[in-house]
Amino acid sequence: MSLESFEIMDLSGLTPMLRQFYQIKMQYPDCILFFRLGDFYEMFGDDAEVASKVLEITLTSRDAGSQGKIPMCGVPYHAVEGYLLTLVENGYKVAICEQVEDPKLAKGVVKREVTRVVTPGTITLPQALDEKSNNYVACIFGHGDAFGIAYADVSTGDFKATEIRGELAEAKARDELIRLNPKEVIYPENLLAQSILDILVTLRVSHEAREESAFQSKLCYRNLTRHLGTTTLAGFGLKNKPYAVSAAGALFEYLKETQKISLEHIRDIQAYSLNDYMVLDSYTQRNLEILTTLRENKKQGSLLGVLDKTVTAMGGRLLRRYLAQPLIDIQEIEKRSNRVECLFNEDLLRTQLRDSLEKVYDLERLASKLAYQTANARDLVALRDSFRELPGIKDLICQKDALQDLSKLDCLEDLEEVITDAIVDDPPFLLTEGGLIQKGYNKELDELRDIARGGKEWIANLQKKERERTGVKSLKVGFNKVFGYYIEVSNANLNLVPEDYQRKQTLANSERFITPELKEYEAKVLGAEEKINSIEYDLFCQTRDRLKDSIGRIQQTAHLIAELDVYASLAEVAKQKNYVKPLVNTGTSIEIKEGRHPVVEEYLPIGEFVPNDTFLNLKESRIAILTGPNMSGKSTYMRQVALIVLMAQIGSFVPAESATVGIVDRIFTRVGASDDLASGQSTFMVEMTEVANILNNATEKSLVILDEVGRGTATFDGLSIAWAVTEYLHDHIGSKAIFATHYHELTELEEKLEGVFNLQVAVQHSGKQIFFLRKIIPGGSDRSYGIDVARLAGLPEELLKRAREVLYDLEKGSKKQETKINQLSLFQTQEDPLIEELREIDVNNLTPLEALNVLSELVKEAKRRP
Ligand code: ADP
Repeated sequence: MSLESFEIMDLSGLTPMLRQFYQIKMQYPDCILFFRLGDFYEMFGDDAEVASKVLEITLTSRDAGSQGKIPMCGVPYHAVEGYLLTLVENGYKVAICEQVEDPKLAKGVVKREVTRVVTPGTITLPQALDEKSNNYVACIFGHGDAFGIAYADVSTGDFKATEIRGELAEAKARDELIRLNPKEVIYPENLLAQSILDILVTLRVSHEAREESAFQSKLCYRNLTRHLGTTTLAGFGLKNKPYAVSAAGALFEYLKETQKISLEHIRDIQAYSLNDYMVLDSYTQRNLEILTTLRENKKQGSLLGVLDKTVTAMGGRLLRRYLAQPLIDIQEIEKRSNRVECLFNEDLLRTQLRDSLEKVYDLERLASKLAYQTANARDLVALRDSFRELPGIKDLICQKDALQDLSKLDCLEDLEEVITDAIVDDPPFLLTEGGLIQKGYNKELDELRDIARGGKEWIANLQKKERERTGVKSLKVGFNKVFGYYIEVSNANLNLVPEDYQRKQTLANSERFITPELKEYEAKVLGAEEKINSIEYDLFCQTRDRLKDSIGRIQQTAHLIAELDVYASLAEVAKQKNYVKPLVNTGTSIEIKEGRHPVVEEYLPIGEFVPNDTFLNLKESRIAILTGPNMSGKSTYMRQVALIVLMAQIGSFVPAESATVGIVDRIFTRVGASDDLASGQSTFMVEMTEVANILNNATEKSLVILDEVGRGTATFDGLSIAWAVTEYLHDHIGSKAIFATHYHELTELEEKLEGVFNLQVAVQHSGKQIFFLRKIIPGGSDRSYGIDVARLAGLPEELLKRAREVLYDLEKGSKKQETKINQLSLFQTQEDPLIEELREIDVNNLTPLEALNVLSELVKEAKRRP
């Protein structure tokens, strides 16, 4: 029996339970259906075949009725998480189908329903989530010059949307998706944006096309306003943004379909505009190693790795978002940096604050668990303990003017009280076995507990009474699971057993009896225990629901805590690593004194990093041509400038003696393709496409970092392209740029173009050896030092000698060529050398014979031409 055929399958021959299975499966054809059967989730048919392979569990079969046998496998319900995670990580969606009525009360097959669909972008299992990263599901809608993107993290309640318009909308939308790094993307069936579809495949994001009708703007608008309880979305910044509304609306419906809860933790949509942030295209994000390293894709070794000293999960996630979206609004930047400064200056305050913040649990994810009704008593205790820290935190921030607007922090005292009153200090993990609710919270519960607890005393009394009545000193009252309470009399004393004892069980040395009195009591005690568990469970759910009504307040507090944590973390890093507050302004210069690379300095012994100055403006110091040997520190220097600017624009302190940063609208970095034999041509193509992207998008306010661009092709091609790119940047774009190159010919541009200036990495010679001083100094390097670097790498002396000879010959040859290039200006149409020679002839000073000779030479030369 195969899945492909189940839609047209005749269900009549199946057993009733399998008929139910296929009826439900038809509604979730793209999911693996976890079908609850007692203590197991069973899978059938193709689902079973797929799952048994992925999960490495045994495939069995089950009688399907008149249609024969059907493949089957199962996983125990109490260990379901691990299996779910494995399936989702392998790109499957899982529909969880539960028994929704008590099997004891069911007539016929137990009623079952899908209660949740677990997908890569909506999974909320703790094992599946990195506490310091968001888990986004995104939706994209649009075409041509208009796109809407919405994204949500159901584990925190974040829900955001943006609309992107204009000529380059598709490329920007694609970059935004890359920045978000969602685990899952949905889009309309006819999405006409090939580059976006391609990137989803390249990034291996789980993606799914949805019916066009789900994106219908009016329907989306109506669904969103209904959920948010408003008549308009204008208040959320979504006025006249139909594409953003469609993306948000379709995403919201998808969440409703899969989560099957009322999504109370999604309480607003935050609309944002890409224009409010510095643009970091995907290449630059990766190349500057902002969140992860290029090679290993790890946080350690990235800028985030250095800056993240947050002590809460919420702060960790926020810092990540700040780094991926630096600001461009001066007031916003100053607001942040002033707060960091305040915490930087106040060591004691910062330490106390961080100590308290550390005790705050992940309020965002706990709040979401309230919405999903998956929070257990320990989660409530985690909320309670977190809330208890809030008044102290508020007191600390109230002390400082710069932190005043964070002091609107809602300390949630009333919610703390709700939990403290209801829940015991150290509750068990399970919700069904009692032990959750405080004494004195509920009268009925207390009475039942007295009965249950009184049991021991009552039994002791009964035992005493019966011993006296019967005269059997060894008489015992006991309990077992099969017979309940009993009275045990040894064989030797059986003659003393009174009339009213009823025999229940005979053992080797004794007999067990019951009495009506004992059974009556037993009913009361056992009933009480069962009742206690169910009352406790109900009271727990009531408490959880009361907290659920305040999810919005908890989330607001969580956001402020996250912010505080980020500021305190940035201040802590600044203190530990000797950073300074940069002066950020709306000017156009970048001036850095003694700047350092925040990550490279981290991995060098203290004091070994050589700091360097940077001065760029839109006048005489606009484009720096940076030359120097390989491995001398060029890339490090350029990236350090980019990272310092980026850090300044997230509100952080920076690794320097001092820094002034005129706000930059975009940072571009491009690294020339290395000569890769395997993919030669195509890497160069990629390099050129990237350069084209810069030249099409950079503005006067951008910072462009080019590292060996042009390297991916033959020397003269490469040099020509590098030269032309510099000229183009200079003539048509006007942005600040640093261009590292080993084409020392480029240093001549300093003379030719205003604003272009040369920098080099200082090198010290000692005999045949060279040393890199890592110091950036004015001037251009006149040679490439390739052979010296080869010596450093340990190539044999004989080989180096030969290399020098070859170099000498080559240079002699190319000198002639070079002179011509310089005289002709590289990018004018080349003049014929004959014309040049003609121009040099002084006709007035030639004798007729000489003139004839010259003419004859010229004719000869001309005839040699092809
Ligand atoms: P290039 O781009 O010139 O090939 P890199 O910037 O990659 O050189 O630098 C090579 C290595 O030199 C780096 O990995 C780092 O260890 C070291 N380095 C670079 N800049 C400095 C500096 N300013 N101070 C100390 N060491 C540095």
